[in-house]
Amino acid sequence: MHDLIVIGGGVAGLFLAANLPDRQVLILDHAKTVGSKLLITGGGSANITNDLSSRELLVHFSTKAMRNFLAPSLLSFTPSDLMNWFEDRGVELIVRADGHVFPSSLDARTIRTALISHVNSDIRTDCTVTGIIKDEESFTIHTSDRSFTTRFVCLATGGMSCPATGSDGSGYTLAKALGHTIAPPKPALTPIITNEKTAHLSGISLSDVSVTHKRSTTLGDLLFTHDGLSGPVILNLSRAVAKGDAVTISVLDSATLEENLLTFPQKRISTIIKTLGVPASFAKEICERSSLDSARNAGTLRKEERKLLCRTAGALSFEVKATKGFKQAMVTSGGVELSEVDRKTMESRVTPGLFFCGEVLDYDGESGGYNIQAACSTAYLAAEAIRKKIDSGRQSMTQNKEPKGSLSVDI
Ligand SMILES: Cc1cc2nc3c(=O)[nH]c(=O)nc-3n(C[C@H](O)[C@H](O)[C@H](O)COP(=O)(O)OP(=O)(O)OC[C@H]3O[C@@H](n4cnc5c(N)ncnc54)[C@H](O)[C@@H]3O)c2cc1C
Repeated sequence: MHDLIVIGGGVAGLFLAANLPDRQVLILDHAKTVGSKLLITGGGSANITNDLSSRELLVHFSTKAMRNFLAPSLLSFTPSDLMNWFEDRGVELIVRADGHVFPSSLDARTIRTALISHVNSDIRTDCTVTGIIKDEESFTIHTSDRSFTTRFVCLATGGMSCPATGSDGSGYTLAKALGHTIAPPKPALTPIITNEKTAHLSGISLSDVSVTHKRSTTLGDLLFTHDGLSGPVILNLSRAVAKGDAVTISVLDSATLEENLLTFPQKRISTIIKTLGVPASFAKEICERSSLDSARNAGTLRKEERKLLCRTAGALSFEVKATKGFKQAMVTSGGVELSEVDRKTMESRVTPGLFFCGEVLDYDGESGGYNIQAACSTAYLAAEAIRKKIDSGRQSMTQNKEPKGSLSVDI
């Protein structure tokens, strides 16, 4: 019998097993390889965490329920603990100016290799779990080719985003069968499709623009795609937007633009906008939206034309048509109901002996390393709790054996 069977060999499942190197652990994954999603994180560079304190990091999870649930794991296993964990195992890390932490190789394979090489467990891939049966003191796991028995089970099956990597939502069915409630899964951290055509702007990226949605303004990097908007500031916003909402981008401060237009009457409008740091093709877009020829000199603008141009540059509005689906989402919002899981141990309150870690749980963080950190912190707490349970089980087995032995001597 195994001590633990981990279902799902993503970052959470691998990190859990890597923290139980001296126990009988088996990882089952239905994909061809483990850690596939890790390879596409951070654009292939793996942004594993953010150089913040745990309390600062918690702010990047949107609801109070999520922050409350994740507090014990993020405080027990902090961003600096995660950095030390990898550095102690020979992985060199770099911290970008914005706090995002990557392997210095900027290659996600470095992280996956480090994790796999510290997993001292059997890993079975291409293995579909068809059912989990809770027996009195153990579980029987049925798979496509055989069955296993184990004292503890951990579901680390991830969410539903990027299903090609293996996280297809089937873990929710397993959790449901064991008595858990699933908060409806929705794609999160996704690009936005807009009603306005953006194909001509596709590939333009703007740094540190302010984006306003429903009176709340955030600053960040934005990328135009062939059918809408993407980039970190948009991905983080996508959770809150609905069809028909306006997303307003401010690329230039209206007052600064007006001052420049008045100071340089002999210069072309497009040149003035470009000198203020806006890419040429985007300067043209601002002029077109203001019904102005970008080749006109600033001095030829009538007052109303100048005011309209400045207003447009300060607040360029796009209407949300839809958000992209699970195929393009970075994370899933929804999952195993948090109130049904003990936040200090990750053990199910419904089915004792069953544990959870990672994105299968109903939390989702912003883009910036928060999700991998949460996957590792929840896995760490689960590993600690499972180790204690395994050891106390072993102790009680030894204690149970001894009295029997001494009893037989007495007789
Ligand atoms: C494009 C992209 C970029 C991202 N970039 C970042 C980033 O830079 N930083 C960051 O913090 N986060 C990032 N994320 C989010 C992050 O990757 C996830 O939050 C994290 O990988 C979740 O880890 P997990 O182990 O819980 O789930 P997953 O990594 O999804 O792993 C789940 C595993 O379970 C297996 N599985 C699922 N169901 C079953 C089943 N029924 N039976 C057996 N096996 C099963 C799957 O095959 C998979 O191997 C990104 C996500 C995407 C899609």
